[in-house]
Amino acid sequence: MEKILISACLLGLKCRYDGRDNLHALIESLKLKYTLIPICPEVEGGLTIPRIASEIVGTKVMNKIGEDNTDYFLKGAHIALQKAFDNGARIAVLKSKSPSCGIGQVYDGTFTNTLTQSDGFTVQILKNARIYVYTEHQIEELL
Ligand code: SF4
Repeated sequence: MEKILISACLLGLKCRYDGRDNLHALIESLKLKYTLIPICPEVEGGLTIPRIASEIVGTKVMNKIGEDNTDYFLKGAHIALQKAFDNGARIAVLKSKSPSCGIGQVYDGTFTNTLTQSDGFTVQILKNARIYVYTEHQIEELL
C-alpha cells in the first residue's frame, strides 16, 4: 500500500497543545487504502503535551506568553520531512490551521482566532521537497 505521512492528532493521538486529539471520522477508511505514518512535528521538535499555544509571527513562531518556539518548530518540520523520505511517503495529510501542519491558512499571530493565508512550518518544508500535501478536509479525494 502507498504510504501517507499524517498528522498524529488526526489519528486520535492526544498530542495537541491542549492535550486533546483531532480524530477524523474517515481515518479507518483511509487505513484500508494507505499505510499511515503518524507525525506530530511539535512533539518531535521537543515541545511538551500540553504546551502553550503558538502562532506564526513573521518568520518566527511565538507562544501566547511571548516565548520564541521557532527552533522547536523548525526541528519538528525537518524530522517530518526525514520521516517522509525514510518511509517513501510522497503524500501528507495534515491538520488545517496549525502553525506546523496548516495548509494555506494559519492563525495570524495575534491570538485572536484570526486566520491569514500562509502555510505552517512543516508544510512549507514538505512542499519545498515536492511532497503532495492535503488537509483533513480533502481526505475524501484520497479515498
Ligand atoms: Fe496535530 Fe500537527 Fe499540531 Fe501535532 S503539530 S498536534 S500533528 S496539528
